[in-house]
Amino acid sequence: MEGAAVSLTTAPKGRIAVVRVDLRLNQEFDYFVPPSLASRVVEGARVRVPFGRRVLDGTVVALRPNGVASECVVLKPVYDVIGDTPVLSAPVLQLARWMSAYYLCPLDLCLRAAAPSVVRRRASMRKVKPRADPELDEAFAATLPSRPLPLTPAQAAALERVCAVARAKSPKPILLFGVTGSGKTEVYLQAIADVLRAGKGAIVLVPEISLTPQTVERFRARFALATPSHAPSSGARLETDADSAAATPPAEARKSETAHPLAVLHSGLSEGERFREWQRIRSGEARIVIGARSAVFAPVRDLGLLVVDEEHEATYKQEEMPRYHARDVAVMRGRLEGAAVVLGSATPSLESFHNARAGKYELCRLPERIDGRKLPRVRVVDMRVEILRQKGLSVFSQSLHDAILTRLERGEQIILYLNRRGYSASLLCRKCGYVAICPDCSVALAYHRADQILLCHFCGHRQPAPRLCPQPECRDPSIRFQGFGTEKLEEAVKTCFPQARVARMDSDTMTGRADYERTLLRFRMGRLDLLLGTQMIAKGLDFPRVTLVGIVYADLGLHLPDFRAGERTFQQITQVAGRAGRGDLEGEVIVQSFTPHHSAIQFGRRQDFVGFYEEETRFREQLDYPPFNHLTKIEFTSAQTSKAEFAAKKFREALERRIGSSVRLLGPSPAPIARLRGRHRFHLLLRDSRRKGRKEEIGEMLADWPRDGDVRVTVDVDPAQML
Ligand code: ADP
Ligand code: ZN
Repeated sequence: MEGAAVSLTTAPKGRIAVVRVDLRLNQEFDYFVPPSLASRVVEGARVRVPFGRRVLDGTVVALRPNGVASECVVLKPVYDVIGDTPVLSAPVLQLARWMSAYYLCPLDLCLRAAAPSVVRRRASMRKVKPRADPELDEAFAATLPSRPLPLTPAQAAALERVCAVARAKSPKPILLFGVTGSGKTEVYLQAIADVLRAGKGAIVLVPEISLTPQTVERFRARFALATPSHAPSSGARLETDADSAAATPPAEARKSETAHPLAVLHSGLSEGERFREWQRIRSGEARIVIGARSAVFAPVRDLGLLVVDEEHEATYKQEEMPRYHARDVAVMRGRLEGAAVVLGSATPSLESFHNARAGKYELCRLPERIDGRKLPRVRVVDMRVEILRQKGLSVFSQSLHDAILTRLERGEQIILYLNRRGYSASLLCRKCGYVAICPDCSVALAYHRADQILLCHFCGHRQPAPRLCPQPECRDPSIRFQGFGTEKLEEAVKTCFPQARVARMDSDTMTGRADYERTLLRFRMGRLDLLLGTQMIAKGLDFPRVTLVGIVYADLGLHLPDFRAGERTFQQITQVAGRAGRGDLEGEVIVQSFTPHHSAIQFGRRQDFVGFYEEETRFREQLDYPPFNHLTKIEFTSAQTSKAEFAAKKFREALERRIGSSVRLLGPSPAPIARLRGRHRFHLLLRDSRRKGRKEEIGEMLADWPRDGDVRVTVDVDPAQML
């Protein structure tokens, strides 16, 4: 290579690139930047470098001038730069460094998380053919540009605050606490327009499942004719009217579509599509990004606003390394780039509401639905009474049954929510007491009737469903499937209401994104009367003809050994209930429960977030749990239970020696799911404020921790789930 042959006398005083190669070494190496590449080797750029006898790709994480000319000689040169634009902007690089320190995760993995692999690999764009779905295309082909709506006073006040904050030097995050249907999205849209007018860009995060064509279309329509960022900014006003848009020939229309300032990032994109969207963002053509969790890293230039919709959603937490929470990363990115951050929810996480009360966030409220629409009436049905009345457990209480019938007769729509898939939760032999357990996990196998299998919902293990008790000494035919899931619910609906047009939405029936989108579309178009499903139907859907929501078994997640079980149940009831009565017709919600007096259910019934917050935080404060403190969960797993436990104990002792016994540790104790995928699990829980030193020490201990047979150690900072 030419660069390597630079002689001592001619060595230029170039720059040195600090590079992390794609080998998960978690080390940095210096390379000399040849003058020919000097303009392109910038922070965040992907480069090709010699490494031993190989040539590897890597990321430039820093640049420094070299004072000593001779340094260039001993260093190997950067061979090439991949792509024209750096993969990571300087602020996102800084964000990755913060993530690495905060989440105790090697920087290499954080860099990897911050840019999709296709963008890291590829230098240029090959032709990408957008995939088409005729049914969806037809439905959305005619969405005209939408104009900003005249705001309600509460919306106007919220918008005013967001815009003011966006102009501030170091903006405080805003928590937009607005009940379901209060017009939060309209506030986001107008805030984005304001940010665009100031020549800046925006990122909107929504949970993956809410990223429906309807949501995307709402954004696309609003910014359909906004001025591209390069053109002299005459504002994000709608400049072309609908007539001239309609008169555009199809080819032109398609061309203008690619120049649309909106980019969409979700898991359903092909690699080519994802690459194309990133290119559009990097080039500045796309100024607004809407996407799921990882869109928080989108390389939007001059970022002015970050919106995290449904900020309470657990799906913002990535459950693999780096175990980051996109909401918290968004808050940090906002701070680094001086961008406004808006966290929106009808049921804020207790952490965010606590931050708002403590003055760390600014609180804006939208306490009422648009047009004075009422929140739906919520009735709780005591299923214990119902069992006595019906002489056994049936899926529907009398009230829910009658309510469904009435809606069907009136031609209104119904949503039934049950957060468990499959037919039955478990298999029990009534003679010998045998329960079918996953061979690899300490959980019961669920029965899936369509496939006649027993399935583990944690690891995916499957086996044929038996007809007799599988215990050799028993073999009794009186095995029984207990509890019910969406598959059985669907069957019950079809039996009780044969006239209803029904669709089930869960991960068994919806195998791809297109299935999901098509089903929602059919529901929207009135081709379905009743939609039933798991959390897939709980998120952000807005169907004006839905007047009844049934929560079939509200206690399902309530008694899980996780301190957030109550909070999640409250959120689910409130969110699912929020799907009812969004049109002119009033909505009703029926909640079936075996523990109807539980606070999560009662506050859910009244849709009283603040009441729930007050009650729940009292208990959290006693335990010194979030939002009053931070948790770090350290997990030890092994194929042998004794090894996992021993390692956890040793770690605890070492930690206490190092930090002192003031360190507040719980455990080690077996995880609530004591065995998962064949590995025994032990948890050590650290409760502490965000004191930095301690973090660093734990990070160092983890990095130096000796590898002990098959024992694996993982750390989860601010864990979202405790199971
Ligand atoms: P949220 O995001 O809080 O659930 P949305 O923004 O989806 O609420 O608003 C609910 C409905 O009210 C939508 O159909 C939306 O178009 C409508 N809407 C929002 N703001 C206004 C407004 N200022 N005037 C009239 N309709 C509005
Ligand atoms: Zn399993």
